Amino acid sequence: MKTANRVRPEKRPALSPSRCRPATSRVSNRGLSSSTANVSPSFPSGNSGRKNLTRGGAARCSSGYTPTRVAATTSPGTRTPASGPWSLSPAAVAEQGPQPELRRNPITGEWVIIAAGRGRRPHAPDRMPQKDQPDHECPFCPGREDQTPPEVCAFRDSDESDCPGWSARTIPNRFPILVSDAPGAGAGAAYSPDRQPALGASEVIIDTPVHDKPPWEVGLDQTVEMLKMYQERIVALREEKRTTYVHIIRNHLAGAASSLEHPHSQLFGLPFIPPTVDAELDGFARASLGLPGCVMCDMVEREEEATERVVAANDGFIAFCPFASRLPYETWIVPRRHQVRFEDCAELESFAGIIIQVMRGLKDGLDNPPFNYWIHTYPLRGETRPYHWHLEILPRLTVPGGLELGADVWVNIVAPEEAAARLGA
Ligand SMILES: [Zn+2]
Ligand SMILES: [Zn+2]
Ligand SMILES: [Zn+2]
Repeated sequence: MKTANRVRPEKRPALSPSRCRPATSRVSNRGLSSSTANVSPSFPSGNSGRKNLTRGGAARCSSGYTPTRVAATTSPGTRTPASGPWSLSPAAVAEQGPQPELRRNPITGEWVIIAAGRGRRPHAPDRMPQKDQPDHECPFCPGREDQTPPEVCAFRDSDESDCPGWSARTIPNRFPILVSDAPGAGAGAAYSPDRQPALGASEVIIDTPVHDKPPWEVGLDQTVEMLKMYQERIVALREEKRTTYVHIIRNHLAGAASSLEHPHSQLFGLPFIPPTVDAELDGFARASLGLPGCVMCDMVEREEEATERVVAANDGFIAFCPFASRLPYETWIVPRRHQVRFEDCAELESFAGIIIQVMRGLKDGLDNPPFNYWIHTYPLRGETRPYHWHLEILPRLTVPGGLELGADVWVNIVAPEEAAARLGA
């Protein structure tokens, strides 16, 4: 099994022996670089100084902690400019179009990201692929690392970067909806409290070197590698003060907005708490009152007792179609033991195991449907409030209509009890 040390780029020497697992590979991690871009007074003030991109090779860690060493500093400027379709050559940067920005709805107060450049990404909806990209053209396959922007993090056995041999690899999104720098923000001309540069992180996590199989079909070890990478990036982004919440998602198949076949996840480092998580935080505080644990712990207990909505379960996790599922076959995977933050989860094999079970149920029960999943976890900072992290999966079998989009009222045409029976069969 290929595992990787978890290293916080800015705090390498502080790696705790207790978090150090037997490892045979190294994680290379580039801290984000920094600029003096303006940060909105509306947001937590940003760590405006981006550090030079550095790449650290973590020490091997088998039975105990070995001090880490830092590999040679690499900056994007020292790298031979890439020329592939996912590279960030000057032409590619120009192709990105206008920089994304945040605009606040004056009625609801909700932030919207205006990212006109995203319309130019491969296979935007009006150019949805009829057929997925063949592996011989795939920029995410091993051997084509020069076709992508320089990696920000990778798990591999060597100290090298942007070369084959990785088990999971994170690169900046070539079509970012949040950017680390906002050229022109200093001019201050166009920005206001309701209109801000969209500062944050927009990354692509290449979950596996295997082109045509998602990690859960490759196996447990590969699924664990993907999850470790999720955690690694959340921990690294804690150092970016402008990022308030890290949202990790996966869009599976074109019908769920995936634009490239090679299995990948996406990460968004948002400068605000997304409304759904904000509402959940309020809900946890309200609904946990008077309970011995949190409302999610209570829900886990009830689902386990009822059994009719349970899709899968193991020692550490339970998967169920929630009592008030919004859409057909909506499934949540929840750690049985109360835990606030996903990045603190040490039971990744157990989590990977139940993901494999649930994905098998989706594939067998619904013939490999398009789906989206995301992890809801606690914001990177802020006061302590009740929360219990979880993963939500929404198969994309119906098209939301005016009631759903206009009133946020969901109509589910498959009862969750029926859904669980089909997925868990
Ligand atoms: Zn590929
Ligand atoms: Zn709980
Ligand atoms: Zn949630």
